[in-house]
Amino acid sequence: MDVREKLEIINEKIKAACEASGRNPEDITIVAVTKYVSAERAQEAIEAGITHLGENRDEGLNSKWEQLKDKPVWHFIGTLQSRKVKNIIDKVSYIHSLDRKSLAKEIDKRASRPVSCFVQVNISGEESKHGLPPDDVISFIEGLSQYENVKVAGLMTMLPNIDDETKLRGYFRQMKSLQAEVAAMGIEHAPCTELSMGMSNDYMIAIEEGATFIRVGTALVGED
Ligand SMILES: *Cc1c(COP(=O)(O)O)cnc(C)c1O
Repeated sequence: MDVREKLEIINEKIKAACEASGRNPEDITIVAVTKYVSAERAQEAIEAGITHLGENRDEGLNSKWEQLKDKPVWHFIGTLQSRKVKNIIDKVSYIHSLDRKSLAKEIDKRASRPVSCFVQVNISGEESKHGLPPDDVISFIEGLSQYENVKVAGLMTMLPNIDDETKLRGYFRQMKSLQAEVAAMGIEHAPCTELSMGMSNDYMIAIEEGATFIRVGTALVGED
């Protein structure tokens, strides 16, 4: 199956998940995660209609940036070391892994315009997962007001690789409730209207529970 056919299947599933939950498919953006694949494959995704791409390393992002004919909207989705911010900041529209003040400070310093960031939340409490504990999220966001170039577009999470649908759904639901709580606070630098959650294995559940950005790699562009 080529990327176009895979995208058709994913779009059908998005539609079904939206129908099941009374949502509008137009409110869901697919971020095609191209970290495992070549620039040629990424280009195929763009030709199939994808407009948002995600990479989790500065090298990957920069090499695709140079090789792709088209200019997609770029998302940085992985753990971001502060010293690497300068390598990606002019190229990305979204950073999905804001999880510490020192990183916000570096983004603010290096950016020449406000950058849309997602605050990463460790909603499952798994030790291996990055992100802030849910209880720390509001005070963390409130503490970002001095960084003019850091805008909190929403919250992001990565769930453990488990098959327990009830558990996954519960974590996604907690994310939605936390995002809505922050949004309702009306913080100027944190509209927090977006939710980045759901990957190849769980994006349908994530959409049913309120995801607005899904990050799909394997199911769309494959692994090699
Ligand atoms: C790799 C990655 C994805 C995509 O994972 P798939 O299971 O291949 O869809 C999504 N989000 C993050 C943060 C990733 O690192």
